[in-house]
Amino acid sequence: MPSYPQHSPNRPILVIGSLNMDLVMRTPRVPQGGETLFGHDFATLPGGKGANQALACARLGGHVAMVGRIGDDNFGQVLKSGLARDGVHVSQITVTGGVTSGVAMILVEDIGQNRILISAGANGQVTAGDIDGVAAQIEQAAMLVVQLEVPLPAVLAAIKHAHAAGVPVLLNPAPAAALPDTLWPMVDLLVPNESEATLLSGVDVKDTASAAEAAAVLRARGVRTVLITLGAQGVLICDAQGVRRLPAQKVKAVDTTAAGDTFVGGLAVGLTEGMSLDDAAALGQAASAICVTRIGAQPSIPWRSELTPTER
Ligand code: ADP
Repeated sequence: MPSYPQHSPNRPILVIGSLNMDLVMRTPRVPQGGETLFGHDFATLPGGKGANQALACARLGGHVAMVGRIGDDNFGQVLKSGLARDGVHVSQITVTGGVTSGVAMILVEDIGQNRILISAGANGQVTAGDIDGVAAQIEQAAMLVVQLEVPLPAVLAAIKHAHAAGVPVLLNPAPAAALPDTLWPMVDLLVPNESEATLLSGVDVKDTASAAEAAAVLRARGVRTVLITLGAQGVLICDAQGVRRLPAQKVKAVDTTAAGDTFVGGLAVGLTEGMSLDDAAALGQAASAICVTRIGAQPSIPWRSELTPTER
């Protein structure tokens, strides 16, 4: 069973990824072309998968640093200071002149599906050159955590640096995108949800059996450990020890935004504390079970102290 380096002030978990301000409005129904409607309960809520995962690591007790870009606007300052307030090291979150910070406009129908439009803004300016500039931080990290909301060349450069330095790589392949074959053997932990696992593996993931099949396809490409999150069904784990599903906690879910990000944070913190893979996944699930009972992305991510003593 692989063991992972321990996180510490000098050896933090390093998250490279996106920061977005979520502009959320509820509405009885979405407007049609040319139509204007009154919505309700407008809120600006910090989000972005990278920022959410960094915050989840910090609130769950990890030493964590984040690399990313914000625009020279108020949203960017709010996003960065919110992470710093909760203990994320933010000195490598840089301001990019002339662009806006990442924004997600989210229409939430009172009954129905959310509609989300993302403007990458400064997130789209993260380059492979940026990654070269933080090579020393990557080499010192306890674990590299990346997603796909910043440009792929930057993600690939970060993974290559980490892998070459023997730093474990956790990839949350969200939103799903075509990835080069050379990437898979450099990924220690791949954490897709059902739809991402379907797109990446070509297997229609709809239950435990199909998730196991998809995980086997992904492992055959060279990924060491695959964890497919299955929403209320929990998580399917596939590693050299075999396949098992850990059930999710039974809770009344009101908003699943950031559930996957919270799971990733708990998993990364647990593994870099020396927990077994299954115990670290259980920590992630205990935290994400709290997350789904609350509204919004970052406001819903729990602190370690909110977990029951046995879950901690
Ligand atoms: P994503 O948010 O990336 O789509 P999932 O919906 O698969 O990810 O959720 C991630 C994790 O959050 C799950 O593995 C599970 O532990 C937890 N979770 C999600 N939805 C629920 C729910 N309805 N009840 C309990 N736990 C949930």
